[in-house]
Amino acid sequence: AQERYSSIRDKPAETLCGKTISLHMNAGLMADLPSLESSAAEGVGLFRTELQFLIRNQMPKRTELAQIYSGVLDAAKGKRVVFRTLDIGSDKVLPYMKATDEPNPALGWRAIRVALDRPGVMRMQLQALLRAANGRPLSVMFPFIAQYSEYKQARAEMDKAIEREKILGHPLPSKLEVGAMLETPSLAFAPNAFFEEVEFLSIGGNDLKQFFFAADRENERVRRRYDTLNTSFLSLLEMIIARCDSTGTQVSFCGEDAGRPIEAICMAAMGLRTLSMRPASIGPVKHLLRRTNLDELREVINAERKRGAESVRDAVMEYLRTQ
Ligand code: PEP
Ligand code: MG
Repeated sequence: AQERYSSIRDKPAETLCGKTISLHMNAGLMADLPSLESSAAEGVGLFRTELQFLIRNQMPKRTELAQIYSGVLDAAKGKRVVFRTLDIGSDKVLPYMKATDEPNPALGWRAIRVALDRPGVMRMQLQALLRAANGRPLSVMFPFIAQYSEYKQARAEMDKAIEREKILGHPLPSKLEVGAMLETPSLAFAPNAFFEEVEFLSIGGNDLKQFFFAADRENERVRRRYDTLNTSFLSLLEMIIARCDSTGTQVSFCGEDAGRPIEAICMAAMGLRTLSMRPASIGPVKHLLRRTNLDELREVINAERKRGAESVRDAVMEYLRTQ
């Protein structure tokens, strides 16, 4: 299927109205890295570090992790890689950690909540990332931040890790970017100071949608009940993008929906300029972006919102048919 898109592999995702969308890929294992070259992704927008922890039967050591992260940066050959710190709990349970019996694991003790309550593992991971960068640029983001103070605490852990490296005489990253995943509706309403402080935001649409509609992403009965192109969800994205624009905060979207061509063009029409997706989606998403006029599409979307439509999907499909 990738071959079908090979003719546009080296072309930009430039729309008919002249806007360029930056397409990145999601990864989690070393084996994903060759796709960076074959898909011509601009970088890795989401590196899910928990996969390294999930495939083992014991906690990986710092030196082991540093070696893996260093290999990832080598393979990326200077392209940006955004490492997401450990996102466990909920559906992702480590075989060597005591499972917690929680009535609502998705709303429970997971991701950054675990990392801040038991900081040992994240400290080790941050140190491994700094060692791996070894003087190269480094981008790190924290998952599942629900409020500003959690970001500040996580950021303080990073600052402490840097201080330690300095004292030990290890090289620091030439450039360090620290960001947060926006995966809970609450973070979209965080104080302006949060948006000013964070260096970048990545919208985790899988979780954001689950919490926005209160529909468990693991539950077959409800997971497809609410459309990503629901006008309420698009309004949430619009607000997040506007807040990021007004504070000059970089924002991208890295949930599975970024890899669906119709969803991707609508996100671009709402104002997103960076999308991260599975590598195989880059060709199809680029193909449709290159045939889309985002200004016209935005008018279609806005007309549907004005009309009180629940989802813009039908109107967008109709618009594409007439192109
Ligand atoms: C998301 O929630 O959209 C996301 C990218 O993270 P994950 O799917 O790993 O929870
Ligand atoms: Mg998530």
